[in-house]
Amino acid sequence: MKKYGKVIKDANLKNYNTYKLDVKCKYLIEVDDYNSLKELINHLKEKEIKYFIIGNGSNLILPLYYDGVVIKLKLSDISIKNNIVEAGSSAMMGKLAFDSVKHSLKGLEWASSLPATVGGAVINNAGCFGGETFDSLVKIDCLYNGEIITLNKKDIDYGYRYTNLKDYIILKAYFKLEKGNKEELIKTIKEINDKRKKSQAIIYPSAGSVFKNPEGDYAGRLIQECGLKEKKIGGAMVSSEHANFIINYNNASTDDIINLINLIKEEVLKKFNIDLVLEQEIK
Ligand SMILES: Cc1cc2nc3c(=O)[nH]c(=O)nc-3n(C[C@H](O)[C@H](O)[C@H](O)COP(=O)(O)OP(=O)(O)OC[C@H]3O[C@@H](n4cnc5c(N)ncnc54)[C@H](O)[C@@H]3O)c2cc1C
Repeated sequence: MKKYGKVIKDANLKNYNTYKLDVKCKYLIEVDDYNSLKELINHLKEKEIKYFIIGNGSNLILPLYYDGVVIKLKLSDISIKNNIVEAGSSAMMGKLAFDSVKHSLKGLEWASSLPATVGGAVINNAGCFGGETFDSLVKIDCLYNGEIITLNKKDIDYGYRYTNLKDYIILKAYFKLEKGNKEELIKTIKEINDKRKKSQAIIYPSAGSVFKNPEGDYAGRLIQECGLKEKKIGGAMVSSEHANFIINYNNASTDDIINLINLIKEEVLKKFNIDLVLEQEIK
């Protein structure tokens, strides 16, 4: 598989997931051009080898051993022409926000502290602090059914932390921003970062919010009302700062996290009759 990119056999993925789970995969392949990616996907499909694309691993619960191929894209170019920002899918959303502000462009400040790649943010329609990815997204280039195609926003079904793009590989995204005042934009970014530091457990490894907020309520409130803050299973713990975060406070295993998730779901269902929906993805 070397011809498709850099191949690492039995790769440790601790530095590829923000929970810092000490897990492995059979092959990790880094791919930096569209054609190699296209050929690699064709090859894997033909051989019926399972695979997935990893972004920044900030929404994933990885298994102890993934018996397949994890693909890390190396497509992080960002270019800004007038008010259109083009970004390779492995560029970080935070960098995109800062680069846009440098060009006095407004619309991505909310993403300045989001630990996501562009590809991961598009797939999940990630959002926070009143903004979300699809607010300014215009179109994407992607790989679908062996072809590289462009999809306009109007062709994509999206909603709260959701898109119908699960079978697509995002290669590039285009955002349309507005002219803004650089000093004001910098101030907004600072305020957003301060808010995040105050409200979230950023000292310990996590993958952000565990559950989606049920309509009209907050998953964090429900979990807290069940008295589950600081509940521990193995090395995983419900954060004391934000009950919708599970943190890896002491070498947590994948099972520790999944067992804690199941316990939270059971308790919230029992007390509120609400079946919480997972925002994170178990691979
Ligand atoms: C501290 C912290 C705070 C967070 N805060 C927020 C927040 O405020 N709002 C929010 O929405 N999320 C938040 N998250 C969660 C996370 O950042 C988002 O879900 C993000 O969209 C995941 O992006 P990623 O690049 O890490 O993707 P990954 O977690 O690596 O992957 C997520 C999914 O996208 C797929 N994927 C990734 N790249 C591609 C690609 N190029 N093509 C096709 N599929 C791809 C993966 O296969 C996987 O299915 C937070 C996470 C952390 C750790």
